[in-house]
Parts: sequence; C-alpha cells; structure tokens
Amino acid sequence: MIITRLYASLQKLRPAWISPTKWHHPALYCTSVTTLPLERIRNIGISAHIDSGKTTLTERILFYTGRIDEMHEVRGKDGVGAVMDSMELERQRGITIQSAATFTMWKDHNINIIDTPGHVDFTVEVERALRVLDGAVLVLCAVGGVQSQTLTVNRQMRRYNVPCLAFINKLDRTGADPYRVLRQMRSKLLHNAAFIQLPIGLEKNVKGVIDLVQERALYFEDDLGMTIREDEIPKDMRIESDERRLELIEHLSNVDDVIGEMFLEEKTPSPSDLLSAISRCCNALSFTPVLVGTALKNKGVQLLLDAVLDYLPNPSQVPNYALRPNKQGGEDRVLLHHARDSSHPFVGLAFKLEAGKFGQLTYVRVYQGCLKKGEFIYNTRSKKKVKVSRLVQMHSNNMEDVDIVYAGDICAMFGIDCASGDTFTNTPKLEMFMESMYVPDPVIAMSIKPKHTKDIDSFSKAVNRFTREDPTYRVTWDTDNKETIASGMGELHLEIYAQRMEREYRCQVEMGKPKVAFRETLVAPIEFDYLHKKQSGGAGQYGRVIGVLEPLPDEDNTKVEFQDETAGTNIPKQFVPAVEKGFRGTCEKGMLTGHKVTGVRFRLQDGASHMVDSSEIAFILAAQGAMKQAFEDGIWRVLEPIMSVEITAPVEFQGVVTSHMNRRHGIITGTDANQGWFSLFCQVPLNDMFGYSSELRSSTQGKGEFSMEYSCYAPARSEVMGQLIDQFENSKGLPVASKKKSGR
Ligand code: GDP
Repeated sequence: MIITRLYASLQKLRPAWISPTKWHHPALYCTSVTTLPLERIRNIGISAHIDSGKTTLTERILFYTGRIDEMHEVRGKDGVGAVMDSMELERQRGITIQSAATFTMWKDHNINIIDTPGHVDFTVEVERALRVLDGAVLVLCAVGGVQSQTLTVNRQMRRYNVPCLAFINKLDRTGADPYRVLRQMRSKLLHNAAFIQLPIGLEKNVKGVIDLVQERALYFEDDLGMTIREDEIPKDMRIESDERRLELIEHLSNVDDVIGEMFLEEKTPSPSDLLSAISRCCNALSFTPVLVGTALKNKGVQLLLDAVLDYLPNPSQVPNYALRPNKQGGEDRVLLHHARDSSHPFVGLAFKLEAGKFGQLTYVRVYQGCLKKGEFIYNTRSKKKVKVSRLVQMHSNNMEDVDIVYAGDICAMFGIDCASGDTFTNTPKLEMFMESMYVPDPVIAMSIKPKHTKDIDSFSKAVNRFTREDPTYRVTWDTDNKETIASGMGELHLEIYAQRMEREYRCQVEMGKPKVAFRETLVAPIEFDYLHKKQSGGAGQYGRVIGVLEPLPDEDNTKVEFQDETAGTNIPKQFVPAVEKGFRGTCEKGMLTGHKVTGVRFRLQDGASHMVDSSEIAFILAAQGAMKQAFEDGIWRVLEPIMSVEITAPVEFQGVVTSHMNRRHGIITGTDANQGWFSLFCQVPLNDMFGYSSELRSSTQGKGEFSMEYSCYAPARSEVMGQLIDQFENSKGLPVASKKKSGR
C-alpha cells in the first residue's frame, strides 16, 4: 500500500503558486495564537557542535513550517551544496535565522526556536538561553559524532535539566555512521539513548527512514522533501528494525514502569504505549530518542518536527522558579504559576537584547501571568518603571505586533532600557528575580586592543554590548600598565568575545597572554588599632580605627565584607563610610602579591576622632593604615581559581590521561567507563591547565576531548605562592629578602 502524504496539513491545501510565507501569513492565525493552550506550545533550542548543521536544519524547519519560501545552501567543508557567495549567504541567513527567538507553527502548534548561542563555552548568555527553553534538539554529525563541544553542550543541558531529542544529521556524507554516533551518545554522553528511527540507505543512497514506533517506512520523494511517501518496511531491513525496536523497548523498560512491566510479561507495546513512554522518559531526562536524517538533502526534518510535538515538554510540564530575597540575606525559590490568564502577577525574564535594524529589541520569556501592550511594568533590579509601548513576536525575518502574551510565550518589547537577565513584573512590590543576583568574579584576564586604530569605535560598541549582556565578561582600563584588560571565566570565554568582535563588529583585536586572577586572603583573625595623625601646620588629619580583620568561611572566599560594630560617637557615623571606602580600596591590590584581597571581613569596633582635624580623607587613610598593619602582623595566603574538568577518551589512554592530570595537580573526583571509553572528572587549578588541549590531543591520538569550567577558589600551593611573591617583589624593585610573614 502506498500512501502519498504531505506533512504540513496547511501546505497540503496550498496551491503551488502561493508561496508558503504567504500561505502562512501571520494574519491567518495571529488571533488564535495567543489563545493557544499550553499543550500546543513548545519552546525549544537547537544545540550542536559547530558545523553539524544547526543553521541548515533551522532553515529547513522554517521552510517546512512556511516561515521562509526558499532554502539556501552553502558550500561548506564537505564540499557539498550550491555555490553561493558566502557574504551574501551570511547576509541572507543573518536575516532569516539570527533572531533570538523565532516563532513558527507546525500542525497547529506554536514552536518557538530559541537561539542557543553558537559558542559553547560556559557563559551567562548560554545559561540564559538554556533556561528559557523547555526542550532541545541535540544535532550530531553522522560522521563527526560526539565532539568536545558536544560534551559541553550536553553538560549544560543536563545542568539545566533540559530534555532533549537527538538528531543525527548528514546521513548523506561519506563515512556516515549513525550507529557509531549512538554508541558514542551512550558511552561519552552517558545517555540512555535508542533509535526511534533507522536510516534507509546511507551516504549517496539515503532514501528515507524507518519509523520504529509506528513500524513503517517513510520516503522523501521530491528534491525539496515536501512529499513523504509511506510504505511498508523494506524486506531486507525487517530483521534489523525488529531488533532495533526491541532495543528501544529494552532501553525504555529500564527507566519506565509501564514498559518495564510489559517487558517482563513479554507483551509487545503498541505504538501509542511507546509514544507515551518515550514522551514520559524524555521529559524525565531518563531517555533520549534518537532520530536520523539529512537537513541538506531535505530528509527527515518534518519527522523531527513531529517528534518535537510528541516528545518534548510543553511549558506546563516544566516547573519554573523565581528567586525572592529573604530576611537572612539569602534567596527563596518561589514556584511560578503557568496559567495563561491574568490570575497571577506577570513575571518575565529579559533574556536577550538585540540592537537590530528595528531598534532596540528586548526578548522576554513570560513565566507567569500576562503582559499587555500599553501597560507599565517594573524592572525588579533597577526598580525602574517602563511602559510597554510595542510588543511583537518574531517570525524569522518579519515581526508581528501583538497586544497580549501569556505564561509560556516568548515575545519582544521595543525601546525598553534594561540589561539582559533583568526580571520584569507588573506589580511594583513583587521582589522576584529569575536569575540569581550573584555574579561570579572573573578568573582570568588578558590585555586586549583593536589591531587597527580606525576600529576603536566598533571596539567600544562591542565592549559595551558584550559587557551589558554578560556580567561575567568585564573590560577595564589598567592604569599601571596603560592597557585595556578583558577578564572572564576562562581562556575560551575571552577568545569567543574576541572572535565575535571580529565577526560581528568587523574589529580585529590583539590579545596578550592570559593572566590568572589570583586572590590574597587572611588565614586567621588579626586585630588592628591604627591612628592616622598629621597635625603639624595647616589643616590637620586625625582618625583612629580599632577592630578585627577576619577571614570569611571558604564558600565566601571571593567576597569582601565590612561590618560597623561601633557604638557611641568615638567615630562619628558620617565617617564610617570613609573607613569602608579605605578598606575596600586597599582590597583592590593586596600587599603580598599585588592581587585582589578577598575572603575577609573588616569589623570596625571602635576608634577616635578629633573635633577639627577629623575628615573623610583622614579615615580613609586610617583604614588603609589598619590594613597595612593587618598585612604586616597577620598570616596571608594566595587563592587560585580551580576548574572542574571533564575528559573523555578511549580506555587505553586512561593511564596517561590520569598521570597528566596528576602532574597538573588535578584532584580526581570521579571516573566513569562505558563501551571502551572512560570519563575522568577532576578539579584542577586554572594556572595548571594552560596548553592542555594540545597535550590531550597528542597523548590520545586526537581522540580525547575535554571541557572545563570555573568551580571555586582554593589555596594555591606554596611554590605558586612563592613565585607570585617573588615576582611582585621584583616588580617593585625590592630585594626578595624583604618578604614578610606569609602562610607559605
Ligand atoms: P552549523 O555550524 O551547525 O550551523 O552548521 P551549518 O548548518 O552551517 O552547516 C555546516 C556545513 O555542513 C555546511 O557546509 C552545510 O551545507 C553542511 N551540512 C549541513 N547539513 C548537512 C547534511 O545533512 N549533509 C551534508 N552533507 N552536509 C550538511
């Protein structure tokens, strides 16, 4: 039996002379979109290793869902695809799919595709994008398989509990081996994964796929893959598909009670049993369904869209929490309500700012209540009140004005001044934040400057934008060395922004050697009593400060605290801020190694003042003197950033990889082994990680991969501390012998 069917039901009716865009004109369904129930909304991301075909796939999705009316191809590394001027292509693609959130419709469901930034280093931007989506499609290349960026993307998705489907793309490439990729997903990514589709033909012979759930074959007939022919499973693939279906059932039965029971009773689950089990387990992150296809050759994309509807969660299936500051100085988690009405106050997160040709756009995910055009909303961070004068939803390259959006929706506002990561509500007293206010301090710094002076303007524009979007990326001016310093959460983090300056702002930059952000801290409490007095001639200065400088607990070793415990008027209250200013000022540059002082609390307990000679400056200097005293009398040590490192390689390299990690002073926190591969988890000082990627490559014949991210600050080894002290002394031109007491 051969049934020919077109997948998009709307497109089935579409006469050939009407372009899909026109057919799907927003006006046709915009009135019903806002009233869609949550079950018919999916907020998804497409995550992938660079070059695995994310852009091509996104474009195909927009084509099949009717958002664009042509597909473009690029001649890439594979040497396939139509020849096209790459600049022109970039331009066209930029317009089509670079939107932070693209709204599209598939089978009466609204799918919002949220752009997960192309770089995969751990940045706040990536974190934010992942938080906004409810599910993701992990794209893998059928030839390249799991690569190091895939590991990072995977780890990020796990961290934010994002359920995902896997799509093994590029079946048409020479050397395509989806079976190997599945094995890697199990061994390297540790997914409980199984095929729900099998390829019919590989490389040049890709014809279609077998749907293991419904037990049927689907062929993509025309060049654009618009016509899908359904048929029986070809004879020569029946045994394989039975085996793979059984494998799917086994993998589900390990994590799902319903299928588990059927498996024990030797009952065969029906397609609908399997469908609901896959959806349940996918949402619970206990199972990853694996689909196959080739975006470039237009095969499998519509089925992937069907799978998004069938298996990825809708917004009501994902609990979302806001943070509310509590009296103890911490944050409580508050569960948000996803009803699509105004019964609860509006809460939304501005997850992306875009300065586009349409002006400043702020993308917002609505988590609770509704947001109306024309209403006033409050920024819970800046406490500013703003008017929502225009509300839109993005449809690839065009936008549609809307009057109201509800919990679960993604929209964009015009002309709102805010930073990305800000939370908005419509109730002034509602103190809620979708993101923690705590921003980690950068752990690494490099000097940075535009290569050509003509690019200074673009450079400052880029800096302005990136630092606004990502609070962990900072750019400062170093007055000592007269250079601009970029600091962030890792070498790659800084390099990515440098690349983006070049790519997005056409501004090439030069960067210096990376410098680790060491810190200095105190080992044990030390008392101080310091009098700053200058009373010989002219206006005098007089200020005395008494108290204790004490270390903070390890978990707060990146913070600096000031506590005023004075009673009475020995230090008049108006001078207390000056003491704090003096103290914080000296923390900027420690006296042991010249790095910042952190993990200390300055407890001001008493002091003295003079009727005439006390002044703000006198107390600033008194606090500085007290710090110097504490430095000379106290025991200090150096802290260094420690990274969480995850390495995966074939087991035969486990010995060498482990010994390299030991040599780099890594502390191994865990290992995992699966199907000939092992994963090693360690905590390693950032200072010891330089050059690791090439070492790993050469010691594992290029097969090993690793990812790394900031974990915490911990005391540096005494040799490291000694070196830093010596360097610092040398830089001051002092004899090294003048070293002071330290924890070494
Ligand atoms: P991204 O970096 O993940 O966004 O990847 P792109 O979509 O830009 O694709 C990278 C390269 O792979 C381009 O040259 C594409 O034409 C090519 N490509 C994408 N999908 C396929 C596919 O299914 N088969 C083949 N052979 N090439 C593909």
